[in-house]
Amino acid sequence: MCGVFGIHGHDEAANIAYLGLHALQHRGQESAGVVAGDRTLRRHVAMGLVSDVFDQKSLGRLPGAAAIGHVRYSTAGSSELRNAQPFLFDYAGGSVAIAHNGNLVNADELRTRLEASGSIFQTTSDTEVIVHLMAKVPEFDPVQRLIAALRQVQGAYSLVGLADDKLIGVRDPHGFRPLVIGRLKDGYVLSSETSAFDLIEAEYIRDVEPGELVVVDGAGLRSHRVATGEAAPPHFCVFEHVYFARPDSLVNGKSVYRARERMGMRLADEQPAPGDVVIPVPDSGVPSAIGYAKQAGIPFEMGLIRSHYVGRTFIEPQDSIRHFGVRLKLSPVRSVVDGKRVVVVDDSLVRGTTSRKIVKMLRAAGAREVHLRISAPPTTNPCYYGIDTPTRSELVAASHTLEEIVRYVTCDSLGYLSHDGMMAAVGVAGDVGLGYCSACFTGAYPVPLGKGGDGDLVRLRRSRV
Ligand code: SF4
Repeated sequence: MCGVFGIHGHDEAANIAYLGLHALQHRGQESAGVVAGDRTLRRHVAMGLVSDVFDQKSLGRLPGAAAIGHVRYSTAGSSELRNAQPFLFDYAGGSVAIAHNGNLVNADELRTRLEASGSIFQTTSDTEVIVHLMAKVPEFDPVQRLIAALRQVQGAYSLVGLADDKLIGVRDPHGFRPLVIGRLKDGYVLSSETSAFDLIEAEYIRDVEPGELVVVDGAGLRSHRVATGEAAPPHFCVFEHVYFARPDSLVNGKSVYRARERMGMRLADEQPAPGDVVIPVPDSGVPSAIGYAKQAGIPFEMGLIRSHYVGRTFIEPQDSIRHFGVRLKLSPVRSVVDGKRVVVVDDSLVRGTTSRKIVKMLRAAGAREVHLRISAPPTTNPCYYGIDTPTRSELVAASHTLEEIVRYVTCDSLGYLSHDGMMAAVGVAGDVGLGYCSACFTGAYPVPLGKGGDGDLVRLRRSRV
């Protein structure tokens, strides 16, 4: 749960990166940073939102025609300044900067091996493993060093980097996390999502392919392959469509808004509800609620209002803040729900605690019945590839029946979208969702955990780092 951005060939590269990060702020709110330069690279990172981290003075100290940026949410490594990215480090051959979105499943194993051979880590982030692997490669060219390092890691990474006046973008062989290429005047831009391109008026060209590494310099854009041998099957994260990406983005070449709307329409067919009004849990539930209402022929209304001055609860790591956050952020509109049978459409039901509070709020505002509809299948497994889902033991659908969840949440009925329905909504026909990862719904992990393997233990260990 991070966002990355890169630009090459623009006089105000750091300013453009700063704008790009604004459009990726939903992907991480704990820290933000930019590294910019030509041959000499300079870095500014700090904890907080993009608008708090940068001002004219700090951006003025980042000259150069190339820049990379990062917004961070800590899925691996603790939330503190030393883990803020981009990382900037010096080799014998020059400086290299890296910003990373994703989690490596063999990071712990590699770290142990590197430490045994003398590497001293300064952060607790997965990304530093890549840095140390690069340092051990007997190559001068930083691109070749990076490729050699990436051949040793497993898991999810979409990276942007700067080295030797080159902008580098790379996606892991499965393509878990997104990374797109655009053009801005004579230069190139890279971003986690196209929402950043819309803001800076860049033109979307294409996605970086899974397993592809692109290098941009004065000669244009060149493409390399990271992996040797046969290409791995792609496994793009379906949860980007369900919840995480911005609805105005194209991810994996598809409109997030339209995919969510289709999820809502399919949900209405699969899980009809006796309702007088359909309301979304804003913001990410809005397109699917619109789809549900359209398909079911029930009026759509905004029955819950979100305060936009508080961070998103789902990606807020401290339990105490998360529980308090629901009431702080959502409030019911009495005139919409009073005396009505309300169909509430949300995009996920993770622990069940948020839904329970929403149902309570709606009943207190006069709702006669509350029917909860989820525009995704039950979340039964944690993610090891960069999205912050809780451990399996905390996922309510992993250990409770539908009836038990209904009782816990205190709704009148509950219905989920089927796995096939979700995949069809993102435009994938067929049984298993070819080309996508949907492991948090199925438990079928495309890349297994590295040695040491109980997933919950690995996640707990990381959360304590
Ligand atoms: S496990 Fe779920 S959240 Fe993680 S990459 Fe796969 S689909 Fe995305």
